[in-house]
Amino acid sequence: MSVAPVVIVHGGAWSGGTGQCDARAEGAKQAAIAGWARLKETENSMDAVEAAVRALEDDPIFDAGTGSVLNDAGKIEMDAAIMDGTTLNSGAVACVQNIKNPVTLARKVMENTHHCLLVGEGANEFAEKIGIPVVPTEELVSELSTNKLKFCEGNYDDRVGHAFKATNINKHKKHAQGEHDTVGAVAVDPHGNVAAATSTGGITAKMVGRVGDSPLIGLGCYGDSDTGGVSCTGHGESIMKVHLASRIIMYMETGMSAQDATELALDYMYRRTEGAGGAIVLDNKGNVGLHFTTDFMAWAYVKDDVMHHGLVPDTIHQVAVE
Ligand code: ASP
Repeated sequence: MSVAPVVIVHGGAWSGGTGQCDARAEGAKQAAIAGWARLKETENSMDAVEAAVRALEDDPIFDAGTGSVLNDAGKIEMDAAIMDGTTLNSGAVACVQNIKNPVTLARKVMENTHHCLLVGEGANEFAEKIGIPVVPTEELVSELSTNKLKFCEGNYDDRVGHAFKATNINKHKKHAQGEHDTVGAVAVDPHGNVAAATSTGGITAKMVGRVGDSPLIGLGCYGDSDTGGVSCTGHGESIMKVHLASRIIMYMETGMSAQDATELALDYMYRRTEGAGGAIVLDNKGNVGLHFTTDFMAWAYVKDDVMHHGLVPDTIHQVAVE
């Protein structure tokens, strides 16, 4: 089978503040280019999503790797997952600290262990064992994430409901400074293999030990080369209630297009939980689905050497890629 390869990325869905829009849009574009370059080089969708997510993790504007948000103890705990849609193998880490690129550690869990998910101390011990270097916390903390925690401090309501309320469009506008800058990528390679990956620092002021949807297969990330791949962003506890990623795939299995399935699933989540978010989707022929129930989501994809990108609903820009 020969498929026109595609790589799509997101840099999180959010409502409210328009700050850093340009930086987020630029970060998504650069990550799509990084993923596309790798896809052309290796013709391997796993390599492409890893490269794209690493680029997003290295960009401090996003809540993943460098720039991850702080929990209510002022610490960073990161989650990531990656899934190979052809073998259905996956790897994930949760609550890891001091790791520059959690998506790479997640891939190592998939490739070098018999397990799918390692958390906390165990995940960090595994990283050490396989030679993934530990970086000082200061290298991962950004000014933006420090300010986000300050914004939440002293306001109990914000602390417990920050992300949930921040992503609702019509309600709770007072929490509009809240942001979801989780990152993710989905790719289809020329052989029809689908891969998906998601990486996050979670939500600002989360409790120590809190894990959201992102590292959980079927919730924040899923890939099945028989159907397609998904990476989600948004309020993790709402995504968990509706198993968003697998819901989208299951809708597609009924014959729905990637776009219709993505819209239906996110609308269902909003209606049932009042939780907002976004998702990027590819079917196994490279058709794109993308939707968000927040005001913004930075996304970009490359197909046939043309990059398509956007930030607000119904606006798509196109630019040729060298
Ligand atoms: N889904 C992520 C979480 O709840 C947050 C995000 O998308 O930014 O951990």
